[in-house]
Amino acid sequence: MKAADFLYHRAGSVAEAVTLLDEYAGEARLLAGGQSLMPMLNMRLWRLGALIDVNQVPGLDGIEVEGQGDLEATRVGALTRYASLERSPLAASRLPLLVEMVRHIGDRQVRNRGTLGGSLVQGDPTAEMPLACLVLDARVRVESGRGGREIAMGEFYHGSYAAALEFDEMVTEIRFPRHPQHFAFSELTRRHGDFCVLSVAVTGECDSDGRWHDVRIGLGGVNDMPVLAEAASARLAGTRLADDDIREAAALTQEAIDPPSDMRATAEYRAHLVPVHVRRALQQLCSKNRAADRR
Ligand SMILES: Cc1cc2nc3c(=O)[nH]c(=O)nc-3n(C[C@H](O)[C@H](O)[C@H](O)COP(=O)(O)OP(=O)(O)OC[C@H]3O[C@@H](n4cnc5c(N)ncnc54)[C@H](O)[C@@H]3O)c2cc1C
Repeated sequence: MKAADFLYHRAGSVAEAVTLLDEYAGEARLLAGGQSLMPMLNMRLWRLGALIDVNQVPGLDGIEVEGQGDLEATRVGALTRYASLERSPLAASRLPLLVEMVRHIGDRQVRNRGTLGGSLVQGDPTAEMPLACLVLDARVRVESGRGGREIAMGEFYHGSYAAALEFDEMVTEIRFPRHPQHFAFSELTRRHGDFCVLSVAVTGECDSDGRWHDVRIGLGGVNDMPVLAEAASARLAGTRLADDDIREAAALTQEAIDPPSDMRATAEYRAHLVPVHVRRALQQLCSKNRAADRR
């Protein structure tokens, strides 16, 4: 099947793109990597008045660092492709968790075209990028003809596939604070590169006395959007991530989930696996820390 007719515009600037979005009043979408949008149009899950191609808009695909110390931030343009993140030495040093998670997305062809901004707006609850951005406490910069605003990742979704954007808004950049000292990622997929059954991303800081703080536990695929397991994180504050701490925190993650049943897994199976993968990720966090100590 092929897409129904639509008009095509190639925007030359953010201002032109958002003016067009406004003119079409919800009947147009931006075209970034096209890896979700084009299949949806081809399957006729969507019919649009127009596509607004933003691939030629300059300045939307860079990775930059600004500020220092606690004020340090890494800015990633919305049109930055997964493959650019994978290959960037700057991304590897500033956003290692994001880069590790990018490698789990689809296949080489998808990663050559798909963009960070496109993935966030698409809002698939099993996608890797929304989970990475949530755990890393990123903020999303959006522009429209009415001006710009920033949205914290924790407030970026109303629900499944539902980003908190107005029809005339465009994501221009994602801004990350200083990367946490330690991180780990655990994902269950039926085959490498598939959308996940569930995923867990954890970050944390460890003091010289071995006590952990600011542990964040993010869960993907077990709710209608990625979520933070806040009660579990609170349980770990000030602990040394001993086996009992990890086991009790993993059990508390059940409070944060409301898993779906779909073709990949039942809700019961997902609920059973969440603590297993959280334990695994937290153990990985500890062992990475011990390995760093030995160096
Ligand atoms: C075979 C296959 C396997 C895949 N596997 C995975 C996987 O394992 N994990 C995963 O996470 N994803 C996977 N994907 C989806 C992929 O990550 C998509 O690339 C991503 O969801 C959308 O990014 P895009 O740049 O292609 O956006 P597009 O498809 O161009 O756009 C998606 C949506 O976002 C909107 N949009 C795009 N950019 C902006 C912007 N700057 N501002 C406002 N709105 C914007 C579009 O209008 C559209 O509504 C897979 C896709 C395919 C085809």
